[in-house]
Amino acid sequence: MSKPHVAILGLGIMGSGMAARLLSTGFPVSVFNRSREKSEPFSKAGAFVADSPREAASSSDIVISMVADDAASRGVWLGEGGALAGAARGSLLIESSTLGVAWVRELAALAVQRGCEFLDAPVTGTKPHAASGELFFMVGGSDAALAKARDVFAVLGRETIHLGPTGSGALIKLINNFVCGVQAASFAEALALVSAGGLDRDKCITVLSNSALASPLIKRMVASMAADDFSPNFPLKLMTKDIGYAIHEASDNGLALRTAAPALEVFKNAVAEGLGDQDFSAVLKSVKPSQ
Ligand code: NAP
Repeated sequence: MSKPHVAILGLGIMGSGMAARLLSTGFPVSVFNRSREKSEPFSKAGAFVADSPREAASSSDIVISMVADDAASRGVWLGEGGALAGAARGSLLIESSTLGVAWVRELAALAVQRGCEFLDAPVTGTKPHAASGELFFMVGGSDAALAKARDVFAVLGRETIHLGPTGSGALIKLINNFVCGVQAASFAEALALVSAGGLDRDKCITVLSNSALASPLIKRMVASMAADDFSPNFPLKLMTKDIGYAIHEASDNGLALRTAAPALEVFKNAVAEGLGDQDFSAVLKSVKPSQ
């Protein structure tokens, strides 16, 4: 059977890796990005570069959105030239961005009205995983829709887990990321205290990197710091967005995330210091003792 035609909306860190991976594995691909210059390399690699999300969707069996946040997602699906108006009946629409659950449910309902199927399928993994097909898809939606997506997820990801109905993938992604954000903010405070307390920073990093707290996330932060390389794999401003969305989601479910709220403040301070476009690990640079 021939491969489905896939549209990728959003060619940022993640969407560009996903589009390149699909092209290199022989899928026909259309791409759209708000800033057109990011699309040009994909034209050379054989993708159809669309002038609008609508144009990208109109020739595709599967449309995947991978954009920054709820506003960006709303824009690419429903804005002027939005993808939903171009999507063919029976096509499959997939939101892989990290988004609020309420917006994902609203979008899913609109997709169904249009005669399309819909999955929320956010991912864990970062820039190298997107490029090498090693993402982990967390899926909400119907079995039938997931069956249509399997071949594409198999090329883009190392694992796909079906969590339940629409919104389930979006919610577990926010849960995952708020815990990552809390860890990262705590670690930034820990290293600030190491310095403020006059301890040997390198020795303390060795201690902390070999203790129970040394999660893959903390190890990534230590590696960024050691290399003094904070170029973004996962931009700090997006981690800030995710913690905020998780707090909002919890509140909608009658729960206060008491550890996430101060972590959000730590990240907002880092954004205010101009670190938003750097990797989330740059939060380490923003926590300092008060004078
Ligand atoms: P990114 O590099 O900052 O790219 C963001 C993308 O969204 C770009 O294509 C950007 O277009 C587009 N965009 C932003 N605002 C827009 C708007 N108003 N209208 C239309 N397009 C807009 O982000 P990323 O790292 O690829 O992340 C994409 C999504 O994946 C986010 O939801 C993020 O939370 C999630 N995610 C990221 C990672 C990671 O490690 N990076 C991992 C898992 C999940 P322009 O190029 O024109 O700015």
